[in-house]
Amino acid sequence: MISPEEAAAQVERLSGLDFFPRAADQLAGLKELRLAMQSAATVKIAEMVVTDVMAYQSESPKPAALRSAIWEMNEKLAVPKPVAVPQPSAHHCGRCQGFGYVGGHIGGERHAPWRWCDCANARRAQYESPNLVDEANAVRDKLVKRFINPINSVAGLKPAADGYHGDF
Ligand SMILES: [Zn+2]
Repeated sequence: MISPEEAAAQVERLSGLDFFPRAADQLAGLKELRLAMQSAATVKIAEMVVTDVMAYQSESPKPAALRSAIWEMNEKLAVPKPVAVPQPSAHHCGRCQGFGYVGGHIGGERHAPWRWCDCANARRAQYESPNLVDEANAVRDKLVKRFINPINSVAGLKPAADGYHGDF
C-alpha cells in the first residue's frame, strides 16, 4: 500500500487521458482511481503501471482495470518473503525431546538419576520449574527402592521381576 498522497500524484499523471474523471460529479470515480492506485505495493510499482498506461492507452483506465494492472505488477515485482527461520522448538533437542531434562532410567545400563539437559529447553524449564529435576529424582528414588531388588542392584541394577523397565 502506498499513501493517498503518493497515489494521488500518480492518478494525476493520468489526467491528460480521455475519460479521466475530472468533472465535479465524477469525484467518486476519481477517488476510486486513487484507492486502486493505493493498492500498489510501492510507489515504484504505481509509477510503472501509470507509465505503461500512458505509453499504450489514450483512455483513462477504469478503477477495476487499474487495480488489476497494479496487482499484476505487485505480483511480478513481489520481493520474495524471507524464509521463516524455524524457532528452536520444544522438539529441537534430540537428547531431552524438549523436556529439558534427561536420564531417570531405572535399572539397566542407563540407570541414572534425572539431570538437566544442556539445551535451551533445559534453561527454560529450569527457570519455570527450578525444582523439576529434584522432584523427579525424589519420585525416582522411591521407585528405585521399591523396584530394584537389592541383590540385583549389586549385579548391575536389573529391573525387578515385575517387569518395570524404567521411565516411571
Ligand atoms: Zn535438551
